[in-house]
Amino acid sequence: MFNLTNILRENIKTLTPYSSARDEFKGEAQVLLDANENAFGSPLDKNYNRYPDPLQHELKLKISGIKGVPARNIFLGNGSDEAIDILYRAFCRPGIDNVIIVPPTYGMYEVSANINDIAIKRVNLTPGFQLNLEGIAEAIDTNTKLIFICSPNNPTGNSINRSDIETLLANFNGIVVVDEAYINFSRQKTFIQELTEYANLVVLQTLSKAWGLAALRVGMAFASEEIIEVFNKIKPPYNINQASQELALKALENVEQVNGWIREIVGERDKLSAQLLKLECISYIYPSDANFILAQTSDPKRIYGYLVDKGIVVRDRSKVELCEGCLRITIGTPTENTALIHALTAFKGNS
Ligand SMILES: *Cc1c(COP(=O)(O)O)cnc(C)c1O
Repeated sequence: MFNLTNILRENIKTLTPYSSARDEFKGEAQVLLDANENAFGSPLDKNYNRYPDPLQHELKLKISGIKGVPARNIFLGNGSDEAIDILYRAFCRPGIDNVIIVPPTYGMYEVSANINDIAIKRVNLTPGFQLNLEGIAEAIDTNTKLIFICSPNNPTGNSINRSDIETLLANFNGIVVVDEAYINFSRQKTFIQELTEYANLVVLQTLSKAWGLAALRVGMAFASEEIIEVFNKIKPPYNINQASQELALKALENVEQVNGWIREIVGERDKLSAQLLKLECISYIYPSDANFILAQTSDPKRIYGYLVDKGIVVRDRSKVELCEGCLRITIGTPTENTALIHALTAFKGNS
């Protein structure tokens, strides 16, 4: 059985978190002399001289309304990468514990493990880019604390079978992290409605992709209240700055505009895939539930260099295991996608 206190690191269990001025006094006051701010103001807007809300209540309420998840089940990080790092610091003892990743997948899980001195166990996806459940079961030992599943997966673009993720959630005594950075582009259902079902589930989402706010650095983690409390204990007190909180709140008013873009991107994705497949230098386009496609090409290095010369940058993933020959292409505007097709049409495989 999953038990949060069993897997929490001892130093985190007993940690007294930093208590900020904004934690110690909440409420209305005329004269704030508790945080060593500049009482005269800021060279920008008036409120920038004050420290921001450490727990981002207003922004979380807004997200709660959109996602249908209570605010107490939401953590906001400086990008979802901050949530990934906090997972390691909360649950993994450096030099002792390990985590499972399922390559080819998002690179930050491994980098963050290395930064925190946590061993990685790799259980490659199957040739169809699905979970190898038997391999994962064999890899799990008593020190395995986290399993990272990215769905839709980066860089392959496909969704991971829901029932396989459910099998892991039901049987693994550590935490299953489901990274849904690309969920808005997917036909698959999100896992954020399953938090009451699975105490060991952490779902990551972000405002960086579909929401078009990569520069603001706002990532979301959805989990049980107990896990969210652990996250809040560990995070830097003011991890989301005031400008990002205000701008994100404003941006979240525009659900309709974003949904329009998502529909357009999905339409462009299918159109671009069909056009690319007609080209001689492209042999296969993997089915995608994301805002990018993985394309199997005849000569990835040369095509990459050729495109750079034309002012078009894609991502060379050909050195990634199971992605040999592949370029990852983000869906652009119709004009950008046409420019890509034109450039690749003129690519001569043999010259
Ligand atoms: C882009 C991406 C993220 C990064 O999100 P930030 O919120 O910008 O840090 C997380 N996971 C995956 C799989 C991504 O591709």
